Amino acid sequence: MHSFIDHARDFPGRIAAAGEEREAFGRLAEGQSPEALFITCSDSRVIPSLFTGARPGQLFELRTAGNAVPDYAEGASGEAATIEYAVSVLKVPDIVVCGHSHCGAVRARVHGEDLAAVPAVAGWLERQLPHLPVREPGSGIDDDAQVAGSVQRHVKAQLDRLRQYPCVREGLAAGRLRLHGWYYAIDTGLVMQHDPAADAFLPL
Ligand SMILES: [Zn+2]
Repeated sequence: MHSFIDHARDFPGRIAAAGEEREAFGRLAEGQSPEALFITCSDSRVIPSLFTGARPGQLFELRTAGNAVPDYAEGASGEAATIEYAVSVLKVPDIVVCGHSHCGAVRARVHGEDLAAVPAVAGWLERQLPHLPVREPGSGIDDDAQVAGSVQRHVKAQLDRLRQYPCVREGLAAGRLRLHGWYYAIDTGLVMQHDPAADAFLPL
């Protein structure tokens, strides 16, 4: 934690010392007009700005365990509010749902891990990942490629959930909103995108 505190302490000074940065940061105070809503996992190894090159103000982020998009029928939630605000108020033209390799949430679900000690996690995964079948432990699912396949199936299911949101449905119908399904490999940095025509994830 000490290094974070030191860095944060020095941060304003470094911004002030860099002319261009100072101006760019100053303009952030005028408001935000992000270019995309980026929905991804809370996993510490997934840093959207790192692999997209996004600068402050460019990505509106929603991070949840397992990059889950709650069913619209579940009603008001922090996640639904974030999506609605991004689409209806900020009018983002693109939404990316980005799953990732070695995802602990997806692995726990498909591997049938015992989550009795973390009931909130258990409940969340049960509600948000119902489309992923729970396998018995030891069935061989603990293979990176199989988890990758489950993550990619899960990303597609989250895009379907997004389409249930009235604001998303309207945006798509009006042609002012696009949905993208991404998959990020944490060990190589490779990003793949779902190609609807091929129904496969292909390198960007
Ligand atoms: Zn994850």
